Amino acid sequence: MNRVIYMDNNATTRVAPEVLEEMMPYLTELYGNPSSMHTFGGQVAHKIRAARQQTAALLGCDADEIIFTSCGTESNNTAILGSLAASPNKRTVITTRVEHPAVLSPCRNLEQHGYRVIELAVDKHGNLGMAEFESALSDDTALVTAMYANNETGVVFPVEKIAALCKEKGIPFHTDAVQAVGKIPLNMKKSGIDMLSLSGHKLHAPKGVGALYVRRGTRLSPYLLGGHQEANRRGGTENVSGIVALGKACELSQQYMEDENTRIRGLRDRLQEKILTICPDAMVNGDVKNRLPNTLNVSFEFIEGESILMMLNQFGICASSGSACTSGSLEPSHVLRAMGVPFTAAHGSIRFSLSRYNTQDEVDFVAEKLPAIVNRLRQLSPFVAK
Ligand code: PLP
Repeated sequence: MNRVIYMDNNATTRVAPEVLEEMMPYLTELYGNPSSMHTFGGQVAHKIRAARQQTAALLGCDADEIIFTSCGTESNNTAILGSLAASPNKRTVITTRVEHPAVLSPCRNLEQHGYRVIELAVDKHGNLGMAEFESALSDDTALVTAMYANNETGVVFPVEKIAALCKEKGIPFHTDAVQAVGKIPLNMKKSGIDMLSLSGHKLHAPKGVGALYVRRGTRLSPYLLGGHQEANRRGGTENVSGIVALGKACELSQQYMEDENTRIRGLRDRLQEKILTICPDAMVNGDVKNRLPNTLNVSFEFIEGESILMMLNQFGICASSGSACTSGSLEPSHVLRAMGVPFTAAHGSIRFSLSRYNTQDEVDFVAEKLPAIVNRLRQLSPFVAK
């Protein structure tokens, strides 16, 4: 395979070599079931306890407040459906228009079961207004679920303020922190967040493992019914190697987050600056002062993001576009639409998302290739006056 320049880390990340090394024995010789009575299984249970500690350390919570799951989607579904099941008398859920489908879909499905779901708007920078949020709360609010950081734009919500307000009113608060964990320092002991979702494959662990933080005392019915695993909160034999990997990935994140963030932010800003210099009419989507350090969402008007992606792909450059192919037509992203990004710009949006494995050389290569691609596509575009 030719050189790959991977700048699609909000979609998924490379498994860190240290993580792979840590998990390998649990895919090979240490294959016992952690629920078994024998010593062979017991040593696996011991390693899961260690991974729970490592995960808890990154979140600043206690180990028994962590439930291991299969992914971010499961964590979100568990938090939303599990907490509603535990408080059946209240029937309103508050969320935002820019959530990932792993939150929006279960919420919208609830509408078919008699729930009222309020999807709060964001402003043109992707920010959530506290006043609007506060006025949506009522005695009937069963749950508030709002993401920590947006996967498309990187915009960070005022989650701690939301959590504090919910706490004041006795409303459970869940946050989808799948994009924030490992990029933003978190401390559940100092925070009012009741439940927080994370996903292994966004922080250099493999796909197929996630976790849900549940503050001690939060009412939650199990979502997956089965055996007694995870202290009766999530049935199913544990994905041992995945959990071990997640623990190690959390440990590495904790160790390197500060330095990595500074370096990654520098690379992201360099890429942004170069793109805006070479393509002055490009527009950055999302609040540039309130973003994850690794994310750059940029629009090139009058051309298709998908076409840019295909041409970048020819150089081995991996990124994402803000449009999704739905029934044969390109639908601009619901996030950019909610921000009021014009249709012509939303269609031409590209997301670059960096990680600790990106280099300055890669950033410069992308910035070198992009202008010619944009110019060529503009020449072909029927919407551009020539
Ligand atoms: N939430 C957010 C914000 C995400 O970005 C993603 C994945 O892209 C998910 C949830 C779903 O996570 P998973 O792929 O682990 O189910």
